[in-house]
Amino acid sequence: VRPKVFMPLEPDHNREGKITKVDINKPEKSLVDILEMIKGEGDSINIGDADIIIAAGKGIGNVKNLALVEELADLLGGAVGVSRPLVDSAWKPYAHQVGQTGKTVCPKLYIACGISGQIQHLIGMKSSDVIVAINKDPDAPIFSVATYGIVGDLFKIVPQLTKHFKAIL
Ligand code: FAD
Repeated sequence: VRPKVFMPLEPDHNREGKITKVDINKPEKSLVDILEMIKGEGDSINIGDADIIIAAGKGIGNVKNLALVEELADLLGGAVGVSRPLVDSAWKPYAHQVGQTGKTVCPKLYIACGISGQIQHLIGMKSSDVIVAINKDPDAPIFSVATYGIVGDLFKIVPQLTKHFKAIL
């Protein structure tokens, strides 16, 4: 079970556990040899800890346009998440990927910009408290999990959000 996939239950302090010691035959030598540890770029980022995530998908168009979501994330003290195609294109390190083969996140606010909402992405973020989806396609599946859906061009909406937050923060 991956972290944050399920909501925690209320603790039941009446339950008791039982410790069972099991004899196992430990191999004398590990079957795995670690030859070298290489720290990847962005490994220090843990988007799973962020309360606010501004996420970009292929709708962002090109790597330079990521500056739009980075600016909004910085302003709100949040982290930047991305869909897998952006990681595959090397626009962002893997540490930022949300979804089945990336991180499962559960922030207080998840703003999805230009993300269609394929199941492999939704698995990683659908438990977020509030989801705002910005997509120009009114039939995009991301709207099925969105708390607030904005049908429109992210290149108009994201700068407006940034401008608004700059004015009030
Ligand atoms: P697209 O599906 O291409 O969507 C782009 C969206 O942007 C569209 O909905 C479009 O309407 C919108 N758009 C375009 N321009 C604008 C604009 N100007 N303004 C507003 N909206 C705009 N994906 C993940 O994200 N995470 C995973 O961990 C993951 N794991 C996978 C594992 C497997 C085994 C497989 C097979 C796939 C996995 N995928 C994963 C890929 C997944 O299936 C999708 O291909 C991917 O999530 C699509 O990314 P996207 O939404 O950014 O792109």
